[in-house]
Amino acid sequence: MTAFRTLDQADVKGKRVLVRVDLNVPMENGRVTDATRIERVLPTIREIADKGGRVILLAHFGRPKGRDLKESLKPVAEAVSKHLGKPIAFADDCIGESAAQAVDALKDGDVLLLENTRFHAGEEKNDPAFVQELAKLGDLYVNDAFSAAHRAHASTEGLARALPAYAGRTMQAELDALTKGLEAPKRPVVAIVGGAKVSTKIDLLENLVAKVDALVIGGGMANTFVHAMGLGIGKSLAEKDLAATAMRIIEKARTSNCAIILPVDGVCAYEFKAGAPNHTYGIDAIPEDQMILDVGSQSVERISAAINDAATLVWNGPLGAFEIAPFDQGTVAAARHAAQRTKEGKLVSVAGGGDTVAALNHAGVADDFTYVSTAGGAFLEWLEGKSLPGVEALRA
Ligand code: AMP
Repeated sequence: MTAFRTLDQADVKGKRVLVRVDLNVPMENGRVTDATRIERVLPTIREIADKGGRVILLAHFGRPKGRDLKESLKPVAEAVSKHLGKPIAFADDCIGESAAQAVDALKDGDVLLLENTRFHAGEEKNDPAFVQELAKLGDLYVNDAFSAAHRAHASTEGLARALPAYAGRTMQAELDALTKGLEAPKRPVVAIVGGAKVSTKIDLLENLVAKVDALVIGGGMANTFVHAMGLGIGKSLAEKDLAATAMRIIEKARTSNCAIILPVDGVCAYEFKAGAPNHTYGIDAIPEDQMILDVGSQSVERISAAINDAATLVWNGPLGAFEIAPFDQGTVAAARHAAQRTKEGKLVSVAGGGDTVAALNHAGVADDFTYVSTAGGAFLEWLEGKSLPGVEALRA
């Protein structure tokens, strides 16, 4: 069971329920081009409306500096209405007279979207006066926007302190998955961390080595580790100035009893280009004039063996330059192996963060993982071991 208050504990009938959602959807020419985020919040909206609650949606959109109609949520209201299958109301401000009137007009089961919370500076400042203006509009608060929970803003944190607060169903699913992945996982736990650079993931690596039983390092960032260990990496992407950091992480892993699994071979080419002629070399024999663009087949075997030994897998970042074939093969093979183990009921697999979702989609296995988080920044901060203000405010 989760340690968070959820909709199971909320009595929403006849109540005005302020629901924080993530509607920061991609748009082109006033049209929503990807409705994934809208789809994700529908279960919570439907459940509250079906139970007779009055749903008042709060969301941010883009990064406006003050009121800017280019960043209005109005076109998004139309898209939400279409996906929900019923009309929803829209108020052109999230506080004040127009918001109050729109809320007063709601009947049980109705849905209203308020204009972009970031039209007010008080949102990002978590200004108590702005929080109070929002709180006036509701009796209860539900947060279904995990992806915004790493920010202590008025609509993500302040309101949760001002009103009885609950996790929506999507937030609940995310928190359950993250708890299973790292906070209270079935052991052994293996983490796979790939991607371009060590510099963007130092906190993440340091946190993981203290928590997991084995850490697989792949992608461009593995090159920095291989270099730090005194091996040549040719023209590979690397941050040679971070060699000491890499060694510190290896040392921390040793004292934490975390096995570090680095590539033992690499697929190399002369240039970073799709279809570039390539050859696999042992990691101690990388040619000076080539670059490593993917983990080799022996490395994939070792990674698969590590996955076989694990009960839980946490994954962030591709193992190679997965956007340019054939350098996607290591990532695809490891992802398919993890998906297979998950389908067999032998592995809990939790993945997320930026390119990871694209890589798993590319491998065709995103639906076969136990959970794939699309939350980006919030997921990474959670992997870094940071507490997320919007989540903390929902603890039971
Ligand atoms: P990140 O956003 O840190 O997860 O990094 C993802 C990016 O890392 C992708 O665009 C990959 O193409 C890139 N990447 C992964 N492995 C390598 C590599 N060996 N050399 C160059 N780029 C890589």
